[in-house]
Formats: sequence, C-alpha cells, structure tokens
Amino acid sequence: MPGFELFGNKEREQVQEVLDTGVLMRYGFDGMRNGHWKAKELEAELTKKMDVKHTHLVSSGTAALTVALASAGIGAGDEVIMPTFTFVASFESILALGAVPILVDVDDTLTLDPNAVENAITDRTKVVMPVHMCGSMADLDALQAICKKHGLLLLEDACQAIGGSYQGKPLGSIGDLGCFSFDYVKTITCGEGGAVITNNESYYQNTHKYSDHGHDHLGNDRGAEKHPFLGYNFRISELNAAVGLAQIARLDEFIAIQKRNYTILRDALSQIPEVVFRRVPDGGEENYSFLNFFLPSEEAAQKAHEALGVNGVDGCFYWYNNSWHYYRKWEHLIASKSLGKLPKDVLDTLPDYTKADFSASDKWVGRNISCLIKLGWAEEEVHERAKKMMEAIKQTL
Ligand SMILES: *Cc1c(COP(=O)(O)O)cnc(C)c1O
Repeated sequence: MPGFELFGNKEREQVQEVLDTGVLMRYGFDGMRNGHWKAKELEAELTKKMDVKHTHLVSSGTAALTVALASAGIGAGDEVIMPTFTFVASFESILALGAVPILVDVDDTLTLDPNAVENAITDRTKVVMPVHMCGSMADLDALQAICKKHGLLLLEDACQAIGGSYQGKPLGSIGDLGCFSFDYVKTITCGEGGAVITNNESYYQNTHKYSDHGHDHLGNDRGAEKHPFLGYNFRISELNAAVGLAQIARLDEFIAIQKRNYTILRDALSQIPEVVFRRVPDGGEENYSFLNFFLPSEEAAQKAHEALGVNGVDGCFYWYNNSWHYYRKWEHLIASKSLGKLPKDVLDTLPDYTKADFSASDKWVGRNISCLIKLGWAEEEVHERAKKMMEAIKQTL
C-alpha cells in the first residue's frame, strides 16, 4: 500500500517549487508564490479523479473525518454508527465533536454488516460511517438504502481504499461525504494530509471554512474576512500538498502494481482449500493494498500467522489482537480514559463497551489474516513470496 516506497524525483521537484518561493501556506501571499497553489491544484486533481463536485484538503485523515462530520452539522449527543474493525481515528473524530461513537459488527466483507447497522439505529442516530478497511468496501447499496429509509447521512471512510471502486464509481464518492488519508503509510502520501470529497455545495462551503478558523474566504484581505461560525485549524501546508500532487499523478500506476502483486499471491493461496477470501460486495473492485483471507478457525489463523512470520513472510497482520484496528484492544475507549472530562452528552449516552457483545465480529476478524501488498516488489520476488506463504500455511493445517 505505501506510496512512500516510490518517493522520487517527481515528489522532489514539486516540493522544490514550493521551497523556491518560500510560500508554505495554502492561502494568500499571491505576489510571492510565483503561481504555485499546490493545495488548490491537488484539490482540482482529486475532484477530477474522484468524479465529484468538491474536494477540500486538510492536515490528516482524522481531521478529514472530523471536518466532514462538522460540515454536516454533527455535534453533541448525535450518534454515529461505526465498525468494530477500523482505525482509532473513527471514534476520535466522533468524540472530538461531542458526538457518540456507536460500534457495530462487521461481516465477511470486514466492514459494516448492514443488518447490524439497522439494529443499532435510534432516534439519536445521524450518520452511518462505513470504513473501507484494507482496500475493500462495505456493501454500499444496502447501507445507502438504510440511510435513505431512516434519513441518515452516509460518510465513507476511504482512507485505506483510494483507487478502489463500487459499481464503477470511485470509493469515497458514493456517500454524502467521503474521506481520504495521505499519511505516510497510505497508498498515496503527502507525508501528512487528508481530504474530504462531496457533491454537496453546502457541506463543501462548511469544510473549507471550518478547517480554517471559520474564515469565509471572501475577498483578498485575509485579515478582513468574516467568520460565519466557529472553526478550528485543520489546514494542510503547501509542502505536504506538493508531495501529494506528485503522488496522485501516479495513483493508477500504484494500483496496477498492487493488482499484479495481489493477483500472484491470491492465485497461489487459492490452491489451499481451507483458505477463503474476504467477500467483496457485488460490483466492487478493491484497490489491492492488502490480501485478506480467512482460515477455518481462530486457532488456525493464529498458527498460520505465526508460521508466516517464522518463514520470513513479513507484512502479514493478525488484526484480532491489534490495538490500532480492533475494538478488543481499545482499552482507552472501553474505559473512557480521557485527559479532561468528557462532554455530558457523551457520558450520558456512550454505550458501556465493557459489556458489549461483538462475537459476530470476532467470528470473522478472529479468523482473518491481512497481508500488505508492497509496490517495491519485483515480480520474481512475489512468486517467491507466494511459495513461502503456501508452505507456511499448509504446514499448520
Ligand atoms: C489512516 C486512517 C485514518 C486516519 O488518517 P490519518 O491521516 O493518519 O489521521 C482514518 N481511517 C482509516 C481507516 C485509516 O486507515
């Protein structure tokens, strides 16, 4: 998945153009910047690539989620449905706004189970936030139907799935709002950065204002701008956007390399009858950043994962025991450990996660192994790897 593997001259040239002018900020300083507007250019590129009306860049994927929620008016006490298998940023962004993260089971897509979503809806629910984990997507048709029926927003966290698609549309562009991360280990990187995409003019207007202290961005005098509402600073710098501009131009190339490497490994593992691959919803195409598969039991998955490591196959993850990606190890959330006091609305309505039953998620995540697909592998290396993976897994069955 990581675009940093192929950091090169194009990235250096883009950054150098910013360094040559010294204008590191995305707004203002028109006379000094020699025509360089890296953040604006990257927004235009993403808008085109994602086939949406608007893109706004921010400082991280976590910021993108926070800004996206804020732009749609999500605040204190609003419930946001999110999966048990995701990144900690999901609940961080929700809690940052005083809203309430409602964890919901995942199914064999490793993303939100639509039935579990429907069962979790209350009169406080405002948003359904599927997370397209490890390169593949939630069942967006089913989720969209649920959102329509209950008058909810659909916010796609596509931070790990840029370049993937669903029924011919880019992931992130299907919901009311979509978010990307360009942190250092994502498919394309800015070093640090993120983006919100939408077809909704009003949400877009809110995103750029909210992420820049509420500035209305009207006129040429930043000091004289009005503030229609309270905001915050989630701006991206020109240096980060410059790296992203070089990388977005290479997105198709990155996805093609990932697809080649993924396919070699998948074809090999397909020969083991006990290995079952993650379900990709009808009409979906992964971005091939990870190869995800299930073994017949939790024990078999643990053994196979261990054997992969011992046989020198790096980059394979057993997320079930991982503190970043699975609810079981989110001790800080489960115990509500915050530095200061949490908002009253959160304290009053946050479910008691010490008592939660997510055995339906455990059934899938406990049997799953996810192997990172690297860009830098030569084809021969991938065949070698495929052989080692097969040997390691077969040993344990
Ligand atoms: C990386 C990631 C984020 C957050 O992005 P940052 O840029 O690291 O803040 C959010 N959601 C998912 C699924 C991610 O993988």
